Amino acid sequence: GAYSHRAKVTGSDEIAQLAAEFNSLTDRLQRTESARRQFVSDASHELKTPLAGIRLLTDSILQTDDMNAETTREFVADIGEEAQRLTRITEDLLRLTRLDSGAAAEPAPVAVAPVLRRVVRMLAVVAREQETTLSYEADESAVVLATEDDLHQILYNLMENGIKYSGHMGFVHTALTVEGGDVVIQVEDNGVGISDEDMPHIFERFYRVDKARSREVGGTGLGLSIVSDTVCRRGGTVSVAHRPAGQGTLFTVRLPQVTEEGGST
Ligand code: ADP
Repeated sequence: GAYSHRAKVTGSDEIAQLAAEFNSLTDRLQRTESARRQFVSDASHELKTPLAGIRLLTDSILQTDDMNAETTREFVADIGEEAQRLTRITEDLLRLTRLDSGAAAEPAPVAVAPVLRRVVRMLAVVAREQETTLSYEADESAVVLATEDDLHQILYNLMENGIKYSGHMGFVHTALTVEGGDVVIQVEDNGVGISDEDMPHIFERFYRVDKARSREVGGTGLGLSIVSDTVCRRGGTVSVAHRPAGQGTLFTVRLPQVTEEGGST
């Protein structure tokens, strides 16, 4: 591979130590490089699927003589949906790249409750469509060092997943509290849940428990990676509770609370 240099040293302890560190650095670079290659390959595959769909649909329209107006409209609507899917994937990829490169915006103290209310308003429409009950409680004193967009991404992705994976007539509850110097965001739903086997993987890029289901609900497989990368960047943690299958899901995000003086506690 590109980083195949290894140092073989049999000499003084210090040089042996140096060689060991060099070799471990080589291993790390190799792993990073292979993860990067995997990511590019996965991303290309994800982009190819909707593109192939668009081609297939346009070919069908072009090759069918006398396609009636209604059928044509249906095909064109499907093309539009595939294009929307491409937009979603591209936006998510750009966001992840920005997080990776450290080009994310400078953080400042942000009150969380107003962002939560805005996200609830945005998602209320989606929730209403499938008769899901969206509820929340918000501690107005919650302030974190981040950007509004960071908080929007975290809340939107977790709550949208709650709606997507709780299905018809589900419940999604979000609690924003301040606890021992941390701002705690908990998003709970009563949906399909996540099995213990899948749990270690859900924050990986493009990982979906059920590809068909994720696709159907408009998922990109990137939402939770964006959540965990964003939370991590702002010095917090995100975790998911172990629960028996089918008993819903509970995500917990913790971010350092910002004190009045402007610093983190
Ligand atoms: P997607 O765009 O597919 O929703 P995410 O990265 O947001 O991708 O989530 C990864 C996978 O984790 C999802 O495909 C789904 O299988 C699972 N998942 C995420 N949130 C939930 C939830 N609230 N309940 C059940 N499964 C979930």
